[in-house]
Amino acid sequence: MPELPEVETVRQTILPDVKGRRIDAVEILTPEVFLSNEFVVTGCLIQNVRRRGKYLLIDLLDYSDNKVKKPLIMLVHLRMTGRLLLRQQDLEPPKHTHLRFRLIDPERSDDVIWLDFHDTRRFGRVWIRAADDAGQPVGAPSGYDALGPEPFDTAFSAAYLQNRQQQKRNVSLKAFLLDQSVVAGLGNIYVDESLFAAKLTPDRTVGSLSECEFDRITVAVRQVLEQAILCQGTSLRDYVDGWNRKGRFQECLMVYGRAGQPCRDCGTEIRKIKLAGRTTCWCPACQL
Ligand SMILES: [Zn+2]
Repeated sequence: MPELPEVETVRQTILPDVKGRRIDAVEILTPEVFLSNEFVVTGCLIQNVRRRGKYLLIDLLDYSDNKVKKPLIMLVHLRMTGRLLLRQQDLEPPKHTHLRFRLIDPERSDDVIWLDFHDTRRFGRVWIRAADDAGQPVGAPSGYDALGPEPFDTAFSAAYLQNRQQQKRNVSLKAFLLDQSVVAGLGNIYVDESLFAAKLTPDRTVGSLSECEFDRITVAVRQVLEQAILCQGTSLRDYVDGWNRKGRFQECLMVYGRAGQPCRDCGTEIRKIKLAGRTTCWCPACQL
């Protein structure tokens, strides 16, 4: 499933090619993935592409009848296997393409690219919402408004985590960091990798952690995510960026998906257990 580094990589790869373009036409091949709330995006200009947790937010401005209207936001969640793909030619879209946006350069209407939403499992969704004055979607999908701080935000600190654990003292560290209301954007891969980097076992209860250990978590999460973004994400199964290119962070994984293999640091066999319903990998010698 795409997590923060993958969604951020998609954002960075599509932004330069879609910013400033006008949506000239929308082809809706699978209506249930497109929750438009009756907003019309044809004619809108793409102002920016942002990310919040695992959501992409595409800022739209409606210029359709030469009057500036309220800004809109197209929210995209890729869920398990969703992809946003740019195409320079109007080729027959591959199977499992659910939405197609024809984007033109407003100065040169023959300069066309397509932004396609493709999803084999079909859990991904695209919503259109009005933007409020703070640039946030009005009536956002459930869970969006409850998202915790971004990992790179200063609000994501040891003091914050220590405060948050007070309502969840018996929860495992793994479940705590997977909770999008605690910190936005982490999933199974990056929680396991961050806990290896922080040298903490995933089944520790959060109530047992010291402030210094919470501090190690914030440092480790940022380091791991930063490196994963530099590697354009992890491509183990489906994930590709906006130009259909794989990431490289799978070559750097220390524990995720490595159960039974020797730890890259100490040689001990990597173990796996189920925590919070998710397969969890860790090194019993490096992580305490
Ligand atoms: Zn080890």
